Amino acid sequence: MYELIKKDGLAKRGVLHTVHGDIQTPVFMNVGTAAAIKGAVSTEDLGQLKTQVELSNTYHLHVRPGDEIVKKLGGLHKFMVWDKPILTDSGGFQVFSLADLRKIKEEGVYFHSHVDGRKIFMGPEQSMQIQSNLASTIAMAFDECAPALADKTYVKNSVERTTRWLKRCKTEMNRLNGLEDTINKNQMLFGINQGAIFDDIRIEHARQITEMDLDGYAIGGLAVGETHEQMYHILDVTVPHLPVDKPTYLMGVGTPENILEGVARGVDFFDCVYPTRNGRHGHVYTNQGKLNLFNQKFELDDRPIEEGCNCPACRRYSRAYIRHLLKAKEMLGMRLCVMHNLYFYNTMMEEIRDAIEAGNYRSYMDDKLYGMKQGQS
Ligand SMILES: [Zn+2]
Repeated sequence: MYELIKKDGLAKRGVLHTVHGDIQTPVFMNVGTAAAIKGAVSTEDLGQLKTQVELSNTYHLHVRPGDEIVKKLGGLHKFMVWDKPILTDSGGFQVFSLADLRKIKEEGVYFHSHVDGRKIFMGPEQSMQIQSNLASTIAMAFDECAPALADKTYVKNSVERTTRWLKRCKTEMNRLNGLEDTINKNQMLFGINQGAIFDDIRIEHARQITEMDLDGYAIGGLAVGETHEQMYHILDVTVPHLPVDKPTYLMGVGTPENILEGVARGVDFFDCVYPTRNGRHGHVYTNQGKLNLFNQKFELDDRPIEEGCNCPACRRYSRAYIRHLLKAKEMLGMRLCVMHNLYFYNTMMEEIRDAIEAGNYRSYMDDKLYGMKQGQS
């Protein structure tokens, strides 16, 4: 159950109560695609990084090791040794972006695995069954993420099918949660708003899915090629049509700037691969902008990545040392950068929550954005 604690402008400060503990929002979910945070960061490490929610990918885990195997081992929480909330995506995004030779039908999607080429079928029921086997805290509805450049007729038909699929997801989830051997019988379901960059389709779809009284609502199909301005515009027109007393999740977004702008428009759940992916490439976030640790100028820099940062990397190691590790292709270099970046994102979310509670979100955001623009290197 979601509790709205405070609003500051459109910014929401809430808490989602789950069987795996409370999620304080706004929250950034840390992406562990195949049940691991890339960069050799364990769930034990996450405990030091202020992580509230781990996000895993249904498609990847279905293909390898297989959701039936995860179920036999007691579900994802037990498998990866993490007792806090987990969100699983529906597999839809990967099916539409990664898999080969897909064929979309009313019943679902036929495609070939990107690992071994075997033929797989996934529809709303299969996605719910896989997520139920994984036993995540929050399951996402199976939807089609239409291509960014699709025309309006295509998008309209696609969204109508996504609505029909959502009804099937809800029915199947209710059935699965009532079964004797289901690991998490309290699994929550979030619906996903689609409609590409068409205001009227987005709004109509938001109204339709709101009527279905789900546990939360996501905005999908953004950050797939449109401009930041288009994304903010879609949030401006869509979020007011989603229920304020339920979680609002902007999928796959984004940079610290995108998150700050999203919060200002009423979004309170985020996820993105940027902090982990950038960390693996030696790009680290600071309050003065992003640094590229491969840069020559850090060769003799004995300061931490960010002065005053309390993360496991900054507490002990210098920019010069981490730069050396990255150049020598030592795995520790990646690991330290990823840990710093996740800590940076999770700490920013903490500051965002404090600012909303204090009623000064707008000035916090302006200061933060100004600072990050300064020392970009
Ligand atoms: Zn740090």
